[in-house]
Amino acid sequence: MTIRAASSHQLASRLRSRLDGRVVGPQDPGWDEARRAWNLAVDQHPAVVARPGSADDVVAVVEVAHSYGLRVAAQGSGHGAAPRGSLEGSVLVDMSGMNAVEIDPHNRLARIQAGAQWQDVVGPAAKHGLAGLSGSAGDVCVTGYALGGGAGWMVRRYGLAAGSIRAVDVVTADGRLLRASADSEPDLLWALRGGGGSFGVVTALELDLFAVPELYAGVLFWPQERAAEVLEAWREWTTDLPEEMTSLGRLVNVPLLEEIPEPLRGRSFAVVEAAWIGDEAGGSEQLAPLRELGPEIDTFAPIAPPGLAELHMDPPEPVPSAGDGMLLADFPSEAIAAVVEAAGPGTNSPLVSLEIRHLGGAVDTAAPEDGAFAAVDAPYLLFAVGTVMAPQAKQAVELRLDRVRSALAPWDGGRLLTFAERPDATGGLFPDHVERRLRELKTAYDPEDVIQANHEIRPAA
Ligand SMILES: Cc1cc2nc3c(=O)[nH]c(=O)nc-3n(C[C@H](O)[C@H](O)[C@H](O)COP(=O)(O)OP(=O)(O)OC[C@H]3O[C@@H](n4cnc5c(N)ncnc54)[C@H](O)[C@@H]3O)c2cc1C
Repeated sequence: MTIRAASSHQLASRLRSRLDGRVVGPQDPGWDEARRAWNLAVDQHPAVVARPGSADDVVAVVEVAHSYGLRVAAQGSGHGAAPRGSLEGSVLVDMSGMNAVEIDPHNRLARIQAGAQWQDVVGPAAKHGLAGLSGSAGDVCVTGYALGGGAGWMVRRYGLAAGSIRAVDVVTADGRLLRASADSEPDLLWALRGGGGSFGVVTALELDLFAVPELYAGVLFWPQERAAEVLEAWREWTTDLPEEMTSLGRLVNVPLLEEIPEPLRGRSFAVVEAAWIGDEAGGSEQLAPLRELGPEIDTFAPIAPPGLAELHMDPPEPVPSAGDGMLLADFPSEAIAAVVEAAGPGTNSPLVSLEIRHLGGAVDTAAPEDGAFAAVDAPYLLFAVGTVMAPQAKQAVELRLDRVRSALAPWDGGRLLTFAERPDATGGLFPDHVERRLRELKTAYDPEDVIQANHEIRPAA
């Protein structure tokens, strides 16, 4: 449904009369800023943008949107905006104004409002020697990340972030503010742990924190010409590692940008990044086989958990990008050869990064009751991405993503929501029995399909 200018103006006024937070309509100054996603390649045109300041504001947005026959699309940062598209006929609920964080060291819990980013959590948690299951970038919102699975730097030791969700405050499509926990609405909690944002607008979360006094983490760089050798050695290395070590093998084409330090700027590398939960001596012992390959640069050092956000060299500001990912049922030498042939040295690949993350360990031990996507039984995960400053660049990146995906099709192990960035990846995201249960719950909590997630679970017809 699209909404005419007059109705949009009326809708904005109606929302303003009910909300303490900010409301921006298409005619208002600041509209382009308000409708923006972190991924600047996504052009969102919602009917209006509401920026709630409280759970009551969120209830008001859901009620008003529903009365206009509009859908409701919650956004934390817009890192995962690509699969959701233009948002025509929806109210965009920008949660970034609700970002309070409280650390409860006694119970090892973080209580956060739904717009909090990981960088709001990791510093305060580290003051108590605690860490949450954050991912590679500090400005990703905890909510979208954890609802979609969330594979971070300690995933092999403590599992996916979805499994660390203890309780969720959520406004459902009928405007009720519910608390989903083991004791109340346990089915809803199950769906929210990895089933994504289809079940309501989350206003707050409680997440487990873990005692992580020290880490030894860093990056090893080799010239990309050695990609096959490095990826082979890395894969071999991952087959017998303690759960305390989480790592990834990666091909990086570093952009030619002035702000990037000289030794990296404009060059192509094969890279291993890793985080060891423990001290330098233990981490170094584990890393020895990789160091024998003689990396050109070795940045490993003891760090506190907030330092993990620097490891992956993610862009510090919003960028236009196109990416996609898949779980890999295996990563044998044939798959390594396929990766190198599709996007390795000499292929003129427009991808900034192609990475293979090592899973296993605690990731595959969660029980089905722990959450819709609390466990993954694939040992590796691929994610590839390119920046797309212009339409031609987008086409080149998309074609290369297709090429990578088809080259790795023999090892396709499914998807993890947080690494599925294309709309065409929305089918087959869950095993059939999980998808069935998620649809039943969507039908129970949102029969009219008001809530619009980036990866949608639809109510039963
Ligand atoms: C640079 C970068 C680094 C990343 N690193 C990792 C990583 O290490 N590990 C990993 O697993 N993923 C990673 N991701 C993927 C990221 O976790 C997903 O894009 C995630 O969806 C981002 O959540 P968000 O809330 O920040 O983004 P958004 O785009 O705002 O949200 C994504 C979706 O989450 C849902 N959602 C968000 N907030 C709410 C809410 N309050 N209520 C209901 N639903 C909500 C909605 O369905 C929304 O469409 C990375 C992405 C980028 C771009």
